[in-house]
Amino acid sequence: MTLPTDPAANLAELIRCPSVTPVEGQALSVLQGMLKALDCTVERPVFSEDGTPDIENLYGKLAGDGPHLMFAGHTDVVPPGDEAAWKHPPFAAAIADGQMYGRGAVDMKGGIACFVAALARYVKTHGKPKGSVSFLITGDEEGPAINGTVKLLEWAAERGEKWDASIVGEPTNPDALGDMIKIGRRGSLSGRVTVNGRQGHVAYPHRADNPVPGLMQLLEALLEQPFDEGTKDFQPSNLEVTTVDVGNKATNVIPARASAVFNIRFNDTWSAESLQAEIHNRLDRAAAANRLRGNAEEPVDFDIEWLGRPSPVFLTRDDRLVATLSASVESVVGARPELSTSGGTSDARFIKDYCPVVEFGLVGQTMHMVDERVALADLETLTQIYLRFLEDWFA
Ligand SMILES: [Zn+2]
Repeated sequence: MTLPTDPAANLAELIRCPSVTPVEGQALSVLQGMLKALDCTVERPVFSEDGTPDIENLYGKLAGDGPHLMFAGHTDVVPPGDEAAWKHPPFAAAIADGQMYGRGAVDMKGGIACFVAALARYVKTHGKPKGSVSFLITGDEEGPAINGTVKLLEWAAERGEKWDASIVGEPTNPDALGDMIKIGRRGSLSGRVTVNGRQGHVAYPHRADNPVPGLMQLLEALLEQPFDEGTKDFQPSNLEVTTVDVGNKATNVIPARASAVFNIRFNDTWSAESLQAEIHNRLDRAAAANRLRGNAEEPVDFDIEWLGRPSPVFLTRDDRLVATLSASVESVVGARPELSTSGGTSDARFIKDYCPVVEFGLVGQTMHMVDERVALADLETLTQIYLRFLEDWFA
């Protein structure tokens, strides 16, 4: 069997599988073929949950004695949108001007194609690594993400799998390959604050209690002081008000209720719990102040509801993992990458409960867009970086 050492050939095969979440589209089968050529064992657990589609996942492993490295990612892709708007069809892997076009080219079939090629080159040159390499690949990252990475990690851990480090191959570079490694993420917390007033006629405000000024006081208290200045590794925590809702169509009625939803991206100054306590304190103080409410005697009557589960903040403190990957990037592209905790959440937030995790992949500029594409040169560069990492990490 020929080894899958060419990242562009690997990627073309994967792009030609139309694996729009939750459809497997043969993408995992194609990957399974590549991993079999590398002598990996491959399992394909399917996870189900009421109200969500069943999802196929893949766990492949090249087992050996020594440390265990996990490569994590997903073969599902977002829908192509208007296919006629694409310069080249989204599932054809057409090449033009040194770029390969297709949905998933950078997010993140490209990352998988490069890691497979890197491992194939490693095996070809050095034989099996002195340790284990596993592939934890889900088909449910771009969808509800319920039957994907979380369950796959639990499934593998129940079978006794233990990992020493993980690389997630999501696109992390803003402009050029080698710009940025992600070594953690901010946490995320959402809440809804509702102010209860008393409905009435605008001409007789003393008989009513307008909730809008009260809500303004509360939002001001959330926004006026920064939560922190940022830390060595993180940007300052930031609160955004995402919607303010009163829903009152009449101009002569004081509404009964007003609410607003906010989301905070927070750094390692806080835990979700300490941040919730800080928000309660700010709201309680602002409710008592009555600055915008004339001579109201009662404090603002409000409720707060936390929406969804907060995502915790995390920072990878495995110096060897971060240093080895940074040095691999530098040796191939000639410059050290920025170590960043910016951006949204990713599956790394689940993996960090099992082992230290970093994220490094392609340039993210065209992800989820029409004409998603990757430079063939970037595929080769990323493969070389992953190969160098494998050589150094298993040395
Ligand atoms: Zn992705």
